[in-house]
Amino acid sequence: MSTKYIFVTGGVTSSLGKGIISASLAKLLQERGYSVTIQKLDPYINVDPGTLNPYEHGECYVTDDGAETDLDLGHYERFLNVPTSQANNVTTGRIYQTVIDKERRGDYLGKTVQIIPHITDEIKNCVTKLGNTGQFDVVITEIGGTVGDIESLPYIEAVRQFRYEHGYDNVMVIHLTLIPYLAAAGELKTKPTQHSVKTLQSQGIQPDVLVCRTEYPLSEDQKRKIALFCNINDKAVIESRDAETIYDVPLMMKDEKLDQVVLERLHMELRDEPTLEYWKDFLTKFKQPKQHIRVGLIGKYVELQDAYKSIQEALVHAGVMNECVVDVVSVHSEDLTDENVGEHLKDMQGLLVAPGFGKRGLEGKIIAIRHAREHNVPFFGICLGMQCCVIEYARNVLNLEDANSEEMDAKTPHPVIGIMEEQKTITNMGGTMRLGAYTCEVQVGSLAHNIYGRTEISERHRHRYEFNNKYLDAFEAAGMKATGKNPATGLVEIMEIPEHPFFIGVQFHPEYKSTVANPHPLFVNFVKAAIGEKQVVEA
Ligand code: GLN
Repeated sequence: MSTKYIFVTGGVTSSLGKGIISASLAKLLQERGYSVTIQKLDPYINVDPGTLNPYEHGECYVTDDGAETDLDLGHYERFLNVPTSQANNVTTGRIYQTVIDKERRGDYLGKTVQIIPHITDEIKNCVTKLGNTGQFDVVITEIGGTVGDIESLPYIEAVRQFRYEHGYDNVMVIHLTLIPYLAAAGELKTKPTQHSVKTLQSQGIQPDVLVCRTEYPLSEDQKRKIALFCNINDKAVIESRDAETIYDVPLMMKDEKLDQVVLERLHMELRDEPTLEYWKDFLTKFKQPKQHIRVGLIGKYVELQDAYKSIQEALVHAGVMNECVVDVVSVHSEDLTDENVGEHLKDMQGLLVAPGFGKRGLEGKIIAIRHAREHNVPFFGICLGMQCCVIEYARNVLNLEDANSEEMDAKTPHPVIGIMEEQKTITNMGGTMRLGAYTCEVQVGSLAHNIYGRTEISERHRHRYEFNNKYLDAFEAAGMKATGKNPATGLVEIMEIPEHPFFIGVQFHPEYKSTVANPHPLFVNFVKAAIGEKQVVEA
């Protein structure tokens, strides 16, 4: 069977959840035995989101191969439990960069280089690159932005050409729109959807399926009206009601038969209907928890939920494994002082200090960690969170006054966190950190070893600074141990305080690898410690 391609576009407004719909459809197809991958095309000019502030598009998600990508890839992995790679996220900036590099090399043989055909060809190449691997029965390509945006035009044109070139039976378009509810009229309104489909049609694309986001159920009449005015098959008007959690959406799409409509349209065998038993089991545990626990998430981008998306989701997975719901209390690190920390953190059963960059909010993180260390509150530090626990220990236990990371204070007398050697000569900001998967050797008998149950692990990274090994002996003598190291370089990956009930800082980002099928053991055990149970859970 040749690879089938599904494009997902969005209309009316952004933030309708194209990523979740794509991931849900992929899940349903995967459950029917098809291998599926999802790709996101982002119409902005940054080459990747790595240089973006989290306030712009939320968290930057990192893949095993070290790509800094859109957070939707996190949803794809969490739903499908299959790793993604650089090929799964492409931006306009990357496409232009490739085309301009080719032009400079003379690859276009003297031709004028233009949006059509050169940019559109490159867009199509990015899609077929995944299809041509031969690994996937279906490639789902989500196009960022909203139909009608100037910057989306080359993508829509590329989809139009793609359908012609690969054949109608192999390529389909799903358009996601909003059916707003006008409270004053007491009615759901289909007009914006009709307009959005007309815009798509004027660009040469007739969508095959409409997924309609709505707060209220769509009546059969409304569905028929949408089908009639948008030239869509009745069965292909899919209702997507606001859901309690994103994890409800695959089951909702199953009830709406989205997968069946897609398979029929692409002339694919229906195979066995997905039962999604383990998914249902996950949702039942999530919705009927035995208890709630409060975990403080200390960061400086806490105003924006999406800034720590993978951490939030990893805590959801870990909660389900422990049959509890983790109520994540966002604490702005800039608000914390020595005087108010006790009051701010008094109800927290665990503290997680988030990754981050730059000086702002750093001192508050250190104050929170001191509180966790001195009051035996389970502590979990990720990346900058780990670096902060090192700084805190240096200042308050080793009495190294003004100890700091070189990132925050280049002239600190005690650079307990220093810039990595290979980073010293780097001047470009984009794509130059220590990125992606590296192995870590875990010390036998440590908390990390208990948790992972293995001595060799692989986790994803995104950092420029590292623990300064010159201080290692002093730290270990005082009670903070390096229990995980990169076997090739000796770079410290894990710090623990064995005397503390649960105190662990990791230089890597475990949150990127937590999925519904495989909740991350560090999160699972952190939550277990927060509940107050000491025994280690095998995830
Ligand atoms: N800013 C720190 C570094 O570059 C930590 C990075 C992070 O938390 N992702 O090393």
